[in-house]
Amino acid sequence: MTLTTGPASHDPAVDFPELAPHARTTVRLHPRRGTPGPRDSHIGGPLWWPAGEPWSLCAEHRDVNGRQQGPYPLVAVAQLTAVDFPEIRFPEGTDLVQLLWCPEWHEQPHPEGWGQACRLVWRRAGDVIEALVAQPDPDAHWDRDLDMIPAACVLHPERLTEYPWREELPAGLADRHTAWLEERGLVDDVSTVPGCKLGGSMSWGVTDMPETMECGECRASLELFLQFDTYEYELDGCDGRPPDRFRPLEERGLEPRSEEGRAAREPVGMTVGRGGHAGLFVCSADPRHPASFFTQ
Ligand SMILES: [Zn+2]
Ligand SMILES: [Zn+2]
Repeated sequence: MTLTTGPASHDPAVDFPELAPHARTTVRLHPRRGTPGPRDSHIGGPLWWPAGEPWSLCAEHRDVNGRQQGPYPLVAVAQLTAVDFPEIRFPEGTDLVQLLWCPEWHEQPHPEGWGQACRLVWRRAGDVIEALVAQPDPDAHWDRDLDMIPAACVLHPERLTEYPWREELPAGLADRHTAWLEERGLVDDVSTVPGCKLGGSMSWGVTDMPETMECGECRASLELFLQFDTYEYELDGCDGRPPDRFRPLEERGLEPRSEEGRAAREPVGMTVGRGGHAGLFVCSADPRHPASFFTQ
């Protein structure tokens, strides 16, 4: 299956050249519910995890009397391979990255981070001789109402050009772009692509972007690794609005409020923050340094 983003309202490379040098590539993951295999790239599926390696745990839980609770197994959130995602800068000797998190909120390595405690595991797939078959079942340990337990999804990656969040641009540029769009009655559908994606730029519409986005270990800048979103695109058909650009062309025949339509728009089944999105940011110098999660 191929999923394709619709055409943009304008092309900054042609129409607004001042913005053009800031173009980036992001990869829409287009997760859709399915049954991914343990070696596949996916969200919410089984991990390619060595049978002899202990599962990652969260030991940060206490009851009301301060007594230690757990530890509890982290939730398998995503797995990406170098074959599917050559743009990931894998540390030498690795070709597989796995993300696990505790679905509850915990302190982050970055002081202004907020959200789930995340763990990234970088491996060489070939090192796993025997994979763990019986993986922890999140439902056995966590309440689904925690909202941050993803449904199993296969991925349909699509590379797109996008433009950064306004605070990442030189002063005044975003305002000039907005004014240019308003004069023409256009929407900004080229900046900060929504939905689950790899790399690119995240919007910070709830809080401002933290003043410094630096790795706590080496001071290199943090960069967006993965964005998770409650919705892949806006509901259209309301207020006579045209279809949201980010609603894939192949799915525009789906009734948005049907079960199928809802599964397409909310594939991972997570409510991120209060129905927003979140970004996992990693160190640009070494992605093995502690990663921070920022919820919007
Ligand atoms: Zn925890
Ligand atoms: Zn670092």
